[in-house]
Amino acid sequence: MSTTTRQDREPRSAERDAVRSAERALARVLEEKGLRRSRQRDVVVRTFFGMGGHVAVDALLEQVRRADPRVGVATVYRTMKLLAEHGLAVPRDFGDGRARYEPATHRHAHSHDHLICTGCGTIVEFESHRIEALQHRVARRHGFEVERRRVELYGRCARCRGVEGNEETAA
Ligand SMILES: [Zn+2]
Ligand SMILES: [Zn+2]
Repeated sequence: MSTTTRQDREPRSAERDAVRSAERALARVLEEKGLRRSRQRDVVVRTFFGMGGHVAVDALLEQVRRADPRVGVATVYRTMKLLAEHGLAVPRDFGDGRARYEPATHRHAHSHDHLICTGCGTIVEFESHRIEALQHRVARRHGFEVERRRVELYGRCARCRGVEGNEETAA
């Protein structure tokens, strides 16, 4: 079985490397677009990649403001849009009315799926090559070529249900 579950956070050093490589990638994008570097944008980028996981824009704004109170809401939104447009961040919407982004540097950002607890908001990531392959097969059968895929399963986590996790061992 190829389904794996893991926690949101990567080891610290891997995170640092990811931040650095994302910053380099962004510098290249800005150069190509002829945009000047801005200190405020840098603060947003550094904070976002430093937070890791699935970052809600409102939470990001709060953290950014702690680093530099002058950074405006518009700068945060514009910067995140820029990152998303250039494949450095993946927009996520888990239906709770909070816009979120996930660093594209996060391992397998484009192929992992999410379980979202409707009780406490916990987000668990999983990867299943079987689910992905099946989706591609369904798409092909209908003459589609998949560009983007998204699987979100909503329900209540083991803690909210008051039971131990991993009830099921074999799927
Ligand atoms: Zn829960
Ligand atoms: Zn994720």
